[in-house]
Amino acid sequence: MGIFQKINNLLAKKQKIEKEIAILQKSCKHSEKSMKLVWKHVDSTSPVIRYVCNKCSIVLGYPTQQEKDNFLKE
Ligand SMILES: [Zn+2]
Repeated sequence: MGIFQKINNLLAKKQKIEKEIAILQKSCKHSEKSMKLVWKHVDSTSPVIRYVCNKCSIVLGYPTQQEKDNFLKE
């Protein structure tokens, strides 16, 4: 199989997975959130700190600088 076909296959899978995640995240009420390190992109060199839902991992917001500092101290 050529690279083109492989990539097309993977992209189709990725789309299916992302759709499934979106549906699950839509059904979640995001009742509990906590600060977590999140990689914006797969090739990011350093993670960023975001509020994410404890259940579905969707990004819910940006912590303030002070909240970030407290988080990094722990
Ligand atoms: Zn959620």
